[in-house]
Amino acid sequence: MTGETELNETPVEAAVADPGQREMPGGVVSESLEALDASREDIQISIRGLGKTYRTDDSETVAIEGFDLDVKKGELISIVGPSGCGKTTLLRMIAGLLEPTTGSIVIDGRVCEGPGPDRGMVFQDFALFPWRSVRRNIEFGLEIDGTPSADRAARSDELLSMVGLTDFADARVHELSGGMKQRVAIARALATNPDVLLMDEPFGALDAQTRNLMQENLVNILSQTDQTVIFITHSVDEAVYLSDRIVVLTKRPATIKSIFDIPWEWPRDRAAPEFTALRKEILEELREENVMN
Ligand code: ADP
Repeated sequence: MTGETELNETPVEAAVADPGQREMPGGVVSESLEALDASREDIQISIRGLGKTYRTDDSETVAIEGFDLDVKKGELISIVGPSGCGKTTLLRMIAGLLEPTTGSIVIDGRVCEGPGPDRGMVFQDFALFPWRSVRRNIEFGLEIDGTPSADRAARSDELLSMVGLTDFADARVHELSGGMKQRVAIARALATNPDVLLMDEPFGALDAQTRNLMQENLVNILSQTDQTVIFITHSVDEAVYLSDRIVVLTKRPATIKSIFDIPWEWPRDRAAPEFTALRKEILEELREENVMN
């Protein structure tokens, strides 16, 4: 971890040293026992009692309430739920871009209090820099970190090869297809080797065929790294294809409706009876939430 992370985060031991509850900028941090729980070695992210209420002068929207979840190191968790239930709100809080109203998020034993280089983000609209080449997009985080140029070039070479874009290193973003742009965005997010990759509908803007290819690409890329991934999607098919676990959220305010474990290896066969049966079961859960809307 770099010095910047240290500034942004509080060791969980400090939270534990203060018995009971502790006032944090984001609200009240959960009990010390829960923080201790988060120090278990196999847990990368531990979320306890998380809530977010958006307030304006004349309105109040409770987006998330009483949300608890542990994510294991190296796990790929998909979050699915009805539109507007609070998925992006949840991801932005884990990214440290949005302050929780209640509860705590502990990442690798430290209470999350802001963004840090331990978390990389990938967005639906790619969010690439159009004036930079593919290589210089990938190297962006390394430049910010002050990584020497020879090391940056070595790392971007490695990532360009991993995402299959070596021949496009000097291309500009506008010369790329949607799928290629998203591969650049993934490589950029991985460049600083974050512990956690946060992906918000990353393949939502792609056509169905490219989307399936990108899912295969992602599985290949992640098999060469050890990132923990939280993946938001509207596509149950995508979630069943990619995930170790799928978390289904209720309608707003979002809480956990159910969690599905998927023990199958990759590549997964979308036509397999167990694949379609699980897909159907999750779709039914979502339908119930939408009907309740
Ligand atoms: P999802 O990603 O599941 O579609 P969001 O997390 O974007 O849902 O939004 C959850 C709820 O919070 C929605 O009702 C949305 O209108 C509301 N919301 C999101 N951002 C804000 C904001 N900045 N101010 C007020 N309300 C917001």
